[in-house]
Amino acid sequence: MNKTNKTVFDSDTGRLNKREESSNVVTYTGPMCAGKSTKLYKLLSCISKHTKKNVLLILPNKHDCINDKVIISRAGACYTGVVVLLTEFNKLSSLKFDDIFQKYDYVGVDEIQFLSDTSDEIYEVTQEARKTGKTLFFSGLDRDFKLKKFEATTYAMDFSDLIVRYKARCDGCDEENSAIYTKRRTTEKNQDRILIEKTAYYPLCHSCYHSGK
Ligand SMILES: [Zn+2]
Repeated sequence: MNKTNKTVFDSDTGRLNKREESSNVVTYTGPMCAGKSTKLYKLLSCISKHTKKNVLLILPNKHDCINDKVIISRAGACYTGVVVLLTEFNKLSSLKFDDIFQKYDYVGVDEIQFLSDTSDEIYEVTQEARKTGKTLFFSGLDRDFKLKKFEATTYAMDFSDLIVRYKARCDGCDEENSAIYTKRRTTEKNQDRILIEKTAYYPLCHSCYHSGK
């Protein structure tokens, strides 16, 4: 479907760039504290504010940034629009996306590393965005603190028109825009893949990660 007549604004950059604007499926990824959720919340909020388009935010049930009815990113960006919380299974494909895209023009899914959908299921969800000409934004961590890929994020990237990989300020050397990995502060053995507690994980650049900081 033709998407050239959209007018979309972003609070940081003004109008979205042409690649974002012409995409049905976009994935924002990177390590902890890189601004992925902030980008998504600002984007949806600005679309809602500056256009007559309807926006929806979908969150996994492990999301920890809900404060009353305002969704707040770790960097403090707020989202106050319509939210759907997934069930305990965190299956995006459990939602009826044909109905969702009838009502909403821009749908964001945050913390996609928690999703349990298969590759085929993520594909089907992205196909609904394409069929209807609507836009689906994914946001989530690419790898855990052992550098193992999160499968759902990989699937989302596989079916995206555009992938934007953000970098964070390194917690080791303080270099801006250099951290590409996430490291865990504690060494408890039984929670090797769950990333919830914001203070337990921090971003590091390549050299700090491998020097054991
Ligand atoms: Zn560093």
